[in-house]
Amino acid sequence: MRRGSGCAPHPENRGPDVIRLQESIDSPRSPQDCFRFAADFRNLPDWDPTTVRARKLTPGALGVGSEFDLLVAFGPQRLPLRYRVVEFQPPHRVLLHGEGERLQLVDEIRFEPLASGTRVIYTSDLTLKSVGRLTEQALKPAVSLNSRRAMAGLRRALAAAEAAPAPSAWRNLLDRAVLPGAAQFTAYGYRSAHLRPVVDRLDGKTVVLTGATSGIGHAAALWLARLGARLVLVGRDAGKLADTKADIVADCGNIDLAVQRADLSLIGETRALARRLLQTEARIDVLVNNAGALFPRRELSGEGLERSFALNLLSPYVLTEALLPGLAPGGRIINVSSGGMYLQPLLVDDLNYTQGRYSGSRAYARAKRGLVALSLDWAERLRPRGIAVHAMHPGWVDTPGVAAALPAFHRAMRPFLRTPEYGADTIVWLAAAAEAAACSGNFWLDRQPHLTDILPGTTVHRKTRLRLRQVLEDAAKSDNS
Ligand code: NAD
Repeated sequence: MRRGSGCAPHPENRGPDVIRLQESIDSPRSPQDCFRFAADFRNLPDWDPTTVRARKLTPGALGVGSEFDLLVAFGPQRLPLRYRVVEFQPPHRVLLHGEGERLQLVDEIRFEPLASGTRVIYTSDLTLKSVGRLTEQALKPAVSLNSRRAMAGLRRALAAAEAAPAPSAWRNLLDRAVLPGAAQFTAYGYRSAHLRPVVDRLDGKTVVLTGATSGIGHAAALWLARLGARLVLVGRDAGKLADTKADIVADCGNIDLAVQRADLSLIGETRALARRLLQTEARIDVLVNNAGALFPRRELSGEGLERSFALNLLSPYVLTEALLPGLAPGGRIINVSSGGMYLQPLLVDDLNYTQGRYSGSRAYARAKRGLVALSLDWAERLRPRGIAVHAMHPGWVDTPGVAAALPAFHRAMRPFLRTPEYGADTIVWLAAAAEAAACSGNFWLDRQPHLTDILPGTTVHRKTRLRLRQVLEDAAKSDNS
């Protein structure tokens, strides 16, 4: 890290009681990317270890007047701070004023282009209110240390893309040890992965996201919008789609956003959706098959298909196959599966669950296993076109879907469940990160490839995968469209 670099003076005149902190780092990323990440104080908890929480208070796009509410750790204390953007000159400079009960801050971040990359220069003038000179001098080393730690965090966040993650023997061992492996599904599992923030951008890219109105899909939609994606939100309910759109506009301003209504448990509606998307979207860069549900009782859709199979497996199959001609080279398909699939085999000859006593969890797990098998199949087929196909599972996430379908599990596990944002993390990373383009055909949790089968009799061999495709083709004819 470079420190105390000879840069132009800070814009404010400072008095004798002001503690000035100045640090700089060099990043291989462009000034635009560095600015978009560092000037957005919602990202502070991702790089500044003292920021416990950060929220944007003002609606719309970031700019002069945007305000943030922060909670900052100072020793054992938690200090609320309110920041306001005073000058906003992308991608060169941002100036913010911060105010708390006991301190005032004037923070300037400048972004200077280098031959390859950017120098980020952070200057912070801190005034401690109602504190004697002696106390101020005593606090200075701690404040400087915090500032250096924050800049080390920023340097890590803005570092170059990492190499594509490879399978690991230790992770495989954990997966095989079913119960300790399942600990990875909790919020603790996510936090202990210590993931870097997603800095790669999606500007100019179109992302079609199903199940965008609730839970993981809603969190993914907000995040993808912040990364600059043009979003096409797919949902069943026009009111919820309008609410989600309003949430995104409040968070990011009036971005390029479309909504499409479709009941994805109906193959006819899924096909009609695909036809509309091929007409309205010049190109699709990312398709996220996220919509899904667990049905506690066996029910048939209006087309006579068992609903778990129809929604969780057949519909993503039909949608993806129909959209393949519209997928851009370098495109990505992300299929949201479930860790529950580890417990079930794929029964290709009984996808509608007509044999044996019905269990919602089993039906769900079988369909989600089918989705992982399909992902491997697509990954092989689409590799020559440069399209990456990923299956992932989000862990155990506290969402309306889980609360409704598994109330006892939800009650018992609530303290350990992930937030929707934790659940959405790997979806967003697979959609945006440069390194995720290079590792098609994996099954991901927390950005790491995992085993697809751990129990005897659950492996889906290539022959079964090919047969699955044929059976799905036949089943898809059920809507007669
Ligand atoms: P959720 O119920 O909160 O959200 C599911 C989304 O899918 C909603 O937007 C819903 O409207 C949409 N959807 C459901 N049925 C639909 C239909 N017929 N047509 C169109 N859209 C429909 O649930 P969630 O937990 O956020 O689930 C998101 C995905 O993650 C699902 O595929 C789910 O299987 C998977 N998943 C979740 C967990 C978890 O712990 N929450 C674990 C493993 C996998």
